[in-house]
Amino acid sequence: MISAPTNDIEFRSVTKRYGAVTAVSDINLTVPKGAFVALLGPSGCGKTTCLRMIGGFEQPSEGEVLIAGKVANGVPAYRRPVNMVFQQYALFPHFDVEKNVAYGLKQLRPKLPVAEISRRVGEALEMVRLSGFAKRRIHEMSGGQQQRVALARALVNKPSVLLLDEPLAALDKKLRTAMQIELQTLQRDLGITFVLVTHDQEEALSMSDLVCVMSAGRIRQLATPQEVYDRPADLFVADFVGKTNRFDGTLEAGGTVRLGNGAALPVSRKDLAPGAVTVALRPEAIRLSRGTGNAATLEGTVTHRIFLGSAAEYSIAIDGLGDMLVTAERQTQNDLVAPGERVAISFDPGTAHIFPA
Ligand code: ATP
Repeated sequence: MISAPTNDIEFRSVTKRYGAVTAVSDINLTVPKGAFVALLGPSGCGKTTCLRMIGGFEQPSEGEVLIAGKVANGVPAYRRPVNMVFQQYALFPHFDVEKNVAYGLKQLRPKLPVAEISRRVGEALEMVRLSGFAKRRIHEMSGGQQQRVALARALVNKPSVLLLDEPLAALDKKLRTAMQIELQTLQRDLGITFVLVTHDQEEALSMSDLVCVMSAGRIRQLATPQEVYDRPADLFVADFVGKTNRFDGTLEAGGTVRLGNGAALPVSRKDLAPGAVTVALRPEAIRLSRGTGNAATLEGTVTHRIFLGSAAEYSIAIDGLGDMLVTAERQTQNDLVAPGERVAISFDPGTAHIFPA
């Protein structure tokens, strides 16, 4: 008996070149069936190229792309169980919603019966909560509604994988947040694999089951959002996902890092060999106290404060070292520290990330 593949998408040593440009370099990746994966990284890192190779709009220069356990190299886009939602929704503005959603189904050969097309369009519109909008023209709809039409059009032929290329980029912040929840709900309900391309780390962390962090054509980390944030694989990931404070120093035997200003930070990395390292500290992992604390290892002066309501974000000039960003949740109404005040900072050794230089 052949069991169903548990990976919907697999990249085996995939490289993609455009002339002299290597867009994607020797990537290995597996996406489990029914997962919501975000490809996250700065502009030009190869996210869209990966998506287009899954969709069949580009072919790998080397290596294999597998879909549902089968090698898809050379298989044209329309023969893959995959559909794509583009950044500019690519809708026909003067058609109504129904015609836009039905467009792909009408191209199928042999032709589908009209009643079947109508039934499937109805189902797709229901999925994206647009039943009742079938006769509305695209240019009479809001940005969020147009986005849902684009989704319905991509879902109408029941793909097993949906590819989303920065689908929320054109929406304002409030609508984007609402659509993030909607997309996540839709994916859970349908149980199909979603691959989302985004350069917005908040979007990647909030929506997906797995985040694939990329830079310069390579994968830096593939893990759950929490793992990527709490245990970044390298300095690039620590910097790109969330905010981070970085300090260069020397890891000494006994588990302290000696910084440039002479301070010795306690860290809990007995596994690393002594030598040059970079310490990365999340702003919210740092505790602030007024004045000079005995136990504190670093002291400085507050240079700037951003009031956030339930928390405050401080810039602190650490003596002999440089600026540090600290986010402090407020415990009482009187615990805001003012610019100019002297503070001591401390943190749990386990929250410091140490990377060999
Ligand atoms: P963005 O977020 O800006 O869309 P991306 O991470 O999706 O970026 P890609 O679009 O995959 O990155 O591009 C990766 C690299 O390949 C870039 O250097 C880009 O300039 C190059 N590239 C992409 N498409 C082509 C093409 N058709 N011809 C030549 N170079 C290309």
